[in-house]
Amino acid sequence: MKILGMVKASLIDYPQKTSTVLFIGGCNFRCGYCHNPELVLCAESQDYMANNMSDGQDIIRGKNKSNSDDEIKFNPNMQNSISQDDVFDFLKRRKRFLDGVVISGGESTIHPELPDFISQIRALDYAVKLDTNGTNPEVLEKLIVNKQLDYIAMDIKGTLAQYEEICEVKVDKEAIKKSINLIMNSKLDYEFRTTVCREFMTTQNLPELCKMIEGAKKYCLQSFKNPGIILNPNKSYSAHSEAEMRALGDIAGPYVNRLIIR
Ligand code: SF4
Repeated sequence: MKILGMVKASLIDYPQKTSTVLFIGGCNFRCGYCHNPELVLCAESQDYMANNMSDGQDIIRGKNKSNSDDEIKFNPNMQNSISQDDVFDFLKRRKRFLDGVVISGGESTIHPELPDFISQIRALDYAVKLDTNGTNPEVLEKLIVNKQLDYIAMDIKGTLAQYEEICEVKVDKEAIKKSINLIMNSKLDYEFRTTVCREFMTTQNLPELCKMIEGAKKYCLQSFKNPGIILNPNKSYSAHSEAEMRALGDIAGPYVNRLIIR
C-alpha cells in the first residue's frame, strides 16, 4: 500500500477536526472525471485491475501526468511513494496540533494492509476518517466491527443503473447497496457524497439516487470542477450552474437529515 500524496494539515477534509490527509495509490474505478489520475493509474492499481478484471476490458484510458501544488505533495513520477516511516514520524511529532487522519485515494480498501495501517494510526491516538467508493463492504464491515474508524465518507457515483457508465468498469451493485446499509446502520459519523455534472445528474434521476440513502445523516452534492487534468481526456464534463445546483439540492434535501452543496 503506497502513500502517493499527503496534505499535512487540512481544516476541510475531516468535519470538526484538523487532519492530515493521506492519498493512497490504486483504485478499482476509472471515473472519467477523476482529477487524481496519478493515484488511479499507478502501477499498484494496474496490478490490482489485472488480477481482478477477468474480461480484458481496456480500462486505462487516461494519460498519467504529474500534478503538484503547494499544499498537496504528489510524488512526481509515482516510482517512489512517501515512506510510511516518514508519515508516522510526522504524525508523532504533530500530535499536539492534529486530531485526525483522513485515508483517501484512490480506493484504499483494495489493499489488504489497510487494517494494519489504520491500527498503527490509531495507536498514535488519532481519529480516522475513511474515504471510500463502497466497493468492498466486507473490508468496511471488518473495520467497523473492529472499531477502527471514526468517520466514513462514501461516494455515491450515481443511480445504480449509471454506475458502470460513470465508473467505466464493471461494478458489483449489490456491494454498493451493502456498503450503504452498513454505514447507515453503524453508530459512526458518516456522509455520502456525489460529484454532480450535467452529463450524469439531473433533476429527473436524482430522486432514484436519493432513495438509496433515504434517512442518511448527511449528504453532500459536490459540483464537478475541472482541474484541467482528468482521467478520461476523451470525454468532457460540465458543471451545473449555481441555480441548477440549488434545484438539485431542493430535490435531495427532503431525503436526508442534512444536505450540503459545495
Ligand atoms: S473512485 Fe475516486 S479515485 Fe477512483 S477513479 Fe473514481 S473518482 Fe478517481
